[in-house]
Amino acid sequence: MSLHPRALVHLENIVANWRAIGAMQPGAEAGAVVKANAYGHGAGQVAKALHAAGCQTFFVAYVEEGMEVRGVVGDGPDILVFNGASEIERIEVEKLRLIPVLNSLTDLDTWIKYARSSPYAVHIDTGMNRLGIRSEDVPALITASRDAPPAHIMSHLVDSDDPACPLNAAQRQTFSELAQHFPTARKSLSNTGGCYICGDFGFDVIRPGIGLYGGGPPAPAGHRPLPGMTLEAPILTVQHAKAGESVGYGATHKLTVPATLATVALGYGDGFPRSASNNGYASLGGTPCPIVGRVSMDLITIDVSAARDLAKPGVFAQFIGPEVPLEDQAKRAGTVGYELVTGLGDRVRRIYD
Ligand SMILES: *Cc1c(COP(=O)(O)O)cnc(C)c1O
Repeated sequence: MSLHPRALVHLENIVANWRAIGAMQPGAEAGAVVKANAYGHGAGQVAKALHAAGCQTFFVAYVEEGMEVRGVVGDGPDILVFNGASEIERIEVEKLRLIPVLNSLTDLDTWIKYARSSPYAVHIDTGMNRLGIRSEDVPALITASRDAPPAHIMSHLVDSDDPACPLNAAQRQTFSELAQHFPTARKSLSNTGGCYICGDFGFDVIRPGIGLYGGGPPAPAGHRPLPGMTLEAPILTVQHAKAGESVGYGATHKLTVPATLATVALGYGDGFPRSASNNGYASLGGTPCPIVGRVSMDLITIDVSAARDLAKPGVFAQFIGPEVPLEDQAKRAGTVGYELVTGLGDRVRRIYD
């Protein structure tokens, strides 16, 4: 049997992170963002675990993702679809009672015309200039939605990774003023970073994503996010290389001293970034082992000289997890935790505890 990379998904950690973030905004209901296959952790399993823990509001990006979540959480919870629904998806959305987030006045007109009695949400853009109805169009929104008001109103923070950024308070203020025009709607502003800002950023529902999975901006004092997964790759071979030799494609790493090298089954074909070449690391029994040479499609070579006794074929080296914090590995690859976990492909076997 061939050896594959695997991701041990820690559902109990994801639930613990969700509870801890919820406790930071005690006035708000804690929702959960499970888009992009729950940031690579498996949307069905994650939604099921969070629902069992009491989560009643889920957020996804696509209708298909919402359909998957509906299948595991049953009829009760709200499921909001950030990117809205196209006309051909409308019937399915209504049937499954997914809540599309409408992002323009045109989408609103169409929704009210064809699906008047079904709940919908509206995203108001308060500074991102990405998705949502512009704040100057809110008077038109109020008029257009008078007879069929939105069930939810939301906006999104531009720079919540930096709690000191003045945009946070400004967006909070703008959102609070605009949201007053929709007294029956539930209000939502904060992603993980927003929940971490001290102060009242909760409104009615919070939308943490990355923080549930152990990544994101630095957490406030007293909260240590637990890893959502442990990404591991099995050692295929171990060899002893001499000083002066090089490692991998392009000979980008030259050994200055003799080294013990282990080659593991993991590569950019599994979604592990090539930009981690000569930068990232693995942990073998708690000892950091640097990635040497280029990450190739199916293989990575690590220098295990410092953990020589542990390095044997079939032993797993950790690339994300308790010994290799997600954001630390991501930073070494020149990216962020979001991209690292959502990029992991199907060849990485997800295993649930
Ligand atoms: C992805 C997303 C979130 C979750 O953000 P995190 O930074 O992962 O917590 C919240 N709201 C919206 C609109 C999003 O697109």
